[in-house]
This record gives sequence, C-alpha cells and structure tokens, in this order.
Amino acid sequence: MKSIVLASGNPGKKVEIEQLLAPFGTRVVTQVELGITEADEPHDSFLENALAKARHACFATRLPALADDSGLCVAALGGAPGVHSARYAGEPRSDRRNNEKLLAELSAHDDRSAYYECVLVLMRGPGDAQPLVAQARWQGAIAGAPRGGGGFGYDPLFLPQGMARTAAELAPEEKNRISHRGQALAKLLALLKNP
Ligand code: IMP
Repeated sequence: MKSIVLASGNPGKKVEIEQLLAPFGTRVVTQVELGITEADEPHDSFLENALAKARHACFATRLPALADDSGLCVAALGGAPGVHSARYAGEPRSDRRNNEKLLAELSAHDDRSAYYECVLVLMRGPGDAQPLVAQARWQGAIAGAPRGGGGFGYDPLFLPQGMARTAAELAPEEKNRISHRGQALAKLLALLKNP
C-alpha cells in the first residue's frame, strides 16, 4: 500500500506508525490532514471503537484506513482508564492532567501494575468485508512520578516490565520494538503477507 489514512488525529500515534511503516515506503496521512472529522468512539471495547474509526475514515476517503484504538489499563483501578484513556481527566484532552489524575487515583493503592492495550484495524477499501485485526498488550507498572521527555500520553509514568526506565525515557525505536503498538503492527503486517 502506497498511502494509508490513519483514522486518528493523535500526533504521537502518527509519529510511531510512520516510523514503523517507513521500511515499507507507505505514506501515512491522518484524517485530520484530509479534513475528515473524528469518528465517535461510543463503545466499551477497543475493538468496537477501532472498527468504527477505520470504517469512518475509509468511507470518507476511499483510501485504505488504519485505526488504532489503545489505552492504559490499571489493575488497581479495575482496568481504568481503559477505553477512556484519552479523556480520563475530561475535555479538553490533556496528557498532563490525565497523568496527574492517574497518580492521585493510585495514591491509596500498593498494586501499581498496568498494561497498555492496542487494537489495530486495517480496512483496505469501503467494500472490505474482512478487515484485518491485530491486538497486543504491553505489561508494566505505574511509576511514582513522571520521568522522560519522549513518547506521549502516559509514557512518563509507564515502567515497562523488567525495565528501570519509563516509556518516555526509551529511544523511539526501542519503544516501537516492544510496545503494544509495535507488536500489534508486526502482527498486522504478518496478516497482510499471510491472510
Ligand atoms: P484513542 O485515541 O481513543 O485510542 O486514545 C488513546 C489514548 O491512550 C491516548 O490518548 C493515550 O492517553 C493512551 N495511550 C495509548 N497508547 C499510548 C502510548 O503508546 N503511550 C502513552 N499513552 C498511550
């Protein structure tokens, strides 16, 4: 695929997906750049939201559309913020306020285990009756205070399992190699080669 539309306006996701697809010469354009409004994400599951986003972008642009629905799931908070990760601290979306709220909610808990979840859906055209779906999880824990200037979202608070650095302290290629998004994209590419 020469070009795909990314069914998201999240600049952090665009940078990572662009880097991951660079070896294949695929141009990634966001739906925002094409003047397409964001799809509603009314569902309680990553999969349903990813399907809704991919369908919306694909029908609006007639291009192959890749949707990423992802979030942080914290065990002590019953899986929150989960599908509500982007707007955990309300509107307008703010990574800083989301991180502050997460630390406040976790202050009374000893269990700080968490994971990132990513569901990718690729709809190759509006008539695609078999969109490709790939899912991956990145295990870790929530740090006591934010550290690092890389990544986006909750990365300054996310300590990948077995690491002393937060996700925001990893080099971009290091994060992409092990992250929920990097792993899900590797699975999606394998499906493309061998459906
Ligand atoms: P979505 O755009 O509705 O899928 O929301 C995704 C939200 O989950 C982001 O806005 C972040 O808050 C969080 N998130 C997902 N993936 C990552 C990541 O790789 N790093 C940090 N935060 C992430």
